[in-house]
Amino acid sequence: RAGKEGANPVSLYTSNMNLDELKRFELLRDLPGAIERNEFFLLYQPKVNAWTGEITGAEALMRWEHPTWGVVSPLDFIPLAEESNLFIRLTDYLIEEVFRYLATLPKKVPISLNVSPKYLYHEQLLHTFESASERYGVSLHWIEIEVAETSQLDEPHHIVNIFSDLRALGIQLALDDFGKGYSSLAYLQQFQVNTIKIDRIFGDGVSENNQARAIIHSLVVLAKEFGLEVVVEGIEQMNDLLLLRQLDCKIIQGYLFSPPVRGEDFQEMMRCGTLVPDSIDDHETSEN
Ligand code: C2E
Ligand code: MG
Ligand code: MG
Ligand code: MG
Repeated sequence: RAGKEGANPVSLYTSNMNLDELKRFELLRDLPGAIERNEFFLLYQPKVNAWTGEITGAEALMRWEHPTWGVVSPLDFIPLAEESNLFIRLTDYLIEEVFRYLATLPKKVPISLNVSPKYLYHEQLLHTFESASERYGVSLHWIEIEVAETSQLDEPHHIVNIFSDLRALGIQLALDDFGKGYSSLAYLQQFQVNTIKIDRIFGDGVSENNQARAIIHSLVVLAKEFGLEVVVEGIEQMNDLLLLRQLDCKIIQGYLFSPPVRGEDFQEMMRCGTLVPDSIDDHETSEN
């Protein structure tokens, strides 16, 4: 991180912390006050019809604008938040922000939000969704919750019950990063979800990988049997899109159509309603 090191005395380094440790240390230190300081924001990544490019929804993805580390990835701060109860406040913020945003959309689409499995044990969970829905006058039908199947959903009874309560409210449910964990199929049998999001490890490069192709094909067949929607994540290449069409994958999410973008930009995309696949080389620059 050029330009940053100069601001802090080198002594922090030589005091035997490497850059990763220093970052982790500072993020952990700064996390508790960051919500009040308004340092979090959401980006929205379109989900797109693989054939028509029509925008069918979006996933909200959190970012932390840290005063010295710049835009921090959720992969860096979500695990830190989960070490304490801060993930509850962060998820509360996420829910509030998504409803606030949905209320501003003239033409709504379903918005997905990522929820740590831990939050599924939070006793205010249903109330938080209902209250936001009432206050913003936005139906819970516009909300989809993505739960990563890689994370241990260790009390199946509780999860089955809470999923059923959420469904009763009209909320859609998705198993995220599907196929990456070891108990995907068991989860599919236990939890009645609406959607599986096939992990990027299968989608990315699928046109050049016969195993990935076989796996996606099987998952599409399986999903059909279960009456589930399929979303394939992480599609960057035109060739992969063409192959996924052949495999009858209907919904795609990936840089090929769009990286995660600011709310204003997603609204602008919604004005047109469709996106054109576009293999671009440098996506990092377009994100922030
Ligand atoms: P995820 O839910 O699987 O989200 C998809 C991730 O893949 C996002 O990373 C997205 O930017 C990235 N992605 C999308 N298309 C492409 C592509 O074509 N190529 C590549 N290389 N990547 C692509 P992001 O935004 O860094 O989020 C990472 C993870 O952090 C998410 O994975 C999710 O598990 C978690 N996360 C993000 N926001 C939240 C949040 O608000 N709460 C919680 N609990 N977790 C969150
Ligand atoms: Mg997700
Ligand atoms: Mg995922
Ligand atoms: Mg992921």
